[in-house]
Amino acid sequence: MPDPLTPEQRHLCMSHIRSRNTKPELKVRQWLWHHGYHYRLNVKSVPGKPDIVMRRFRTAIFVNGCFWHGHSGCDKFRMPKSNVNFWQAKISRNRERDQHNYQTLLENGWQVIVVWECQLTTALIEQTMRLVELRLNQNFLSIYKPKPKPYAMPIDEPLPMAAESQSAYGKQDK
Ligand SMILES: [Zn+2]
Repeated sequence: MPDPLTPEQRHLCMSHIRSRNTKPELKVRQWLWHHGYHYRLNVKSVPGKPDIVMRRFRTAIFVNGCFWHGHSGCDKFRMPKSNVNFWQAKISRNRERDQHNYQTLLENGWQVIVVWECQLTTALIEQTMRLVELRLNQNFLSIYKPKPKPYAMPIDEPLPMAAESQSAYGKQDK
């Protein structure tokens, strides 16, 4: 089968794949791990096979490479000068697929966090991950919101001693 890519495209392609599969996602995972968060990777049962799945928070995290996922307005996203149509079509397909995946997740009661490669530089990673953490906690609260308890006056509660003797005698009589 002939390779549809020119050597230049192939090179670009491989370098992007490499950087996508290793660095950015790993940075996010390491940060989460070091801060005591548990996660799973590429869970097939979750729509869109998110990079990182955090069931406890019912949250899917996508770590997106700026080029492949077409991060608009980003320095790292520069359209190659040759074969512009090829790349434009490819990247817009990726964008559409991403949107479709996010939508499916939301419809299934999942929350979605997208982290971009450019937000994970040494200068920005801490700030970025603190925001991710904030979102996780917000998601957690939205799932496990405690039901408000009616306020009870302390006097309504039986004294521990009274309750103890009551149940002790009550049970023995039967
Ligand atoms: Zn970016």
